[in-house]
This record gives sequence, C-alpha cells and structure tokens, in this order.
Amino acid sequence: MRTTSLFLTLAYAASMVMARPTIRAEPVAEVAETYTSYSSCNRPGVFALTFDDGPDKYSWGLAKTLHDQGIKATFFINGANSVNVLEESTTTEEGEKTYLEVIKQYYDQGHEIASHTYEHKDLKGLTVEEVEYQMNTQSDVIFKAIGKRPALMRPPEGVTDDVSAKVLKDLGYHNILWDIDTNDWRHLGLSTEQKNVKEVLDEDIANVTMGHISLEHDIHEDTVNTLVPWLTEYVKSKGLTFVTVSDCIGVEPYQPDASTGASNTTTTPATVDAALTADINLSTIDIDLTNL
Ligand SMILES: [Zn+2]
Repeated sequence: MRTTSLFLTLAYAASMVMARPTIRAEPVAEVAETYTSYSSCNRPGVFALTFDDGPDKYSWGLAKTLHDQGIKATFFINGANSVNVLEESTTTEEGEKTYLEVIKQYYDQGHEIASHTYEHKDLKGLTVEEVEYQMNTQSDVIFKAIGKRPALMRPPEGVTDDVSAKVLKDLGYHNILWDIDTNDWRHLGLSTEQKNVKEVLDEDIANVTMGHISLEHDIHEDTVNTLVPWLTEYVKSKGLTFVTVSDCIGVEPYQPDASTGASNTTTTPATVDAALTADINLSTIDIDLTNL
C-alpha cells in the first residue's frame, strides 16, 4: 500500500512538473512571431460595429433594426453569461424565441457571429485546457445555432497572455480588439459616449485613416435604444460604410472545416510533446519503484 501510494504521489508530481514546462516552453517564442490581433480595418472608409456579452433580451430587435437599415454588425457572444443560450428564451416582436434562434436570426440577416468565450472568462492565467474548454464549448453553441464554427473571437476585457494567445492561434481564431471604445457599460450617458466616439472619428483623414472597429454591449437598454441610433447616423454622416469584422480585416469569419460537426481539438505539437514527455517520465519512475 505504501509503495502504491508513493508511486501515485510521485506519478502525480511528475505529471505536474514534467507536463507544464513543456507546454509553455515552445509557445512563447512562437506567439511573438505569428500571433496577430486586430484593432482597426485593413482600409479606409469602413466601420465595423461590434457587440459583446450577448445575446440578451434586446438582441433580436437590435439585429432586425440594423438589418432593416442595411447595416451588418458583428456579435461577439457568450453561451453562459447574461443568459444561458442553450436553456433560455426571450419574447420578441415575432413571438417567443430561443436564444439559439436569436443567434440564427443574426446569421440569416447577414450579421456575423463570433466568440467571446463560453462563460466570459478572463483568459489571462488560465491553463491550456481551460482556454480550450472556453473556446470549444462556445464553438459548439454557435455550431448548434448556425451549423458553422467561428474563426473570430474577442477575449473578455481584451486580455490574453502567452498561453491563451497560443491556444487561440492553434484553434484557428483571429483576435479582434477595437479602436473606438464607447465605454457604454459604464452608463455615463450619451454625451460621454458621443465624446468617446468623436475623439477618434473626428481625427480621421479621408482616404488615409484605416476603418474603425467600435465596441458596444447589446445587453444594455441605453446602448440599444439611445447610443446605437445616434452612432449609426454619425458614422453615416462621416461617409463610412458599415462592414462585418471579417470584411473589415479581410479574413474568413468561420472555420473552414465546420462540416464535420466536431469541436476544434487540441492536437497541437506542443500538447503532444508534453503528453509524450509525461508518459516517458512516468514509465521511468514505475521501473525504479519496482526495483526497490
Ligand atoms: Zn465582454
């Protein structure tokens, strides 16, 4: 019993000690070379309106209103944040709709659906497995709604670290930030939000300044009913054209291999190496104990 217990203790300790440095050693250098985040568009004259943290009860009407005006937006959504997308429904002008139907409505109207993690987790400090859980679970939610998996994501608070950035890259995501922050979630009033927008937009040099990505949250009534009506008119008055985020930065919005229905998996070289290293070291410890 004591030998078994000692073995288990050593095996557990070895797996913790051996696996973690191997997972983290390689990504750091690689991320610095290849990982990209986007905070503005790839050309002048365009404007990407984005909404985080939903869906919620205002989302159906917002999507419809924008669509009726010919505006396409991008929704960075959670599965379990403001509402539980898989379990809850909402009352709309067109009757009771599940939140999966709300997401499908975004898609059918030409809006884009992107990931904001499953539970709105701050990715900084999470393990590889925890980041994968947040992204793959949310990918499953979106797949259930529209039959496609997102390739665009926005980290909660806009924050990543080297570990999460590597996982996001390996899972095929583009990291989308913003260059106009309305700070709508602070509820400081329309005039403050107008100032936040104008201090960026009014500095534009025509045909030179790259198009913008603005950050709003459609879970707030004042955002949907007060800020968005003003903002969309102001953007139009500047002669800018509304685009989705994928159009704004010039990438595909959804994963190319979505037809299988399988989640993005974790077969990165770094992960495989770590697993092999851990196995080899456990075997060595096993033999040593047998000889004692
Ligand atoms: Zn958020």
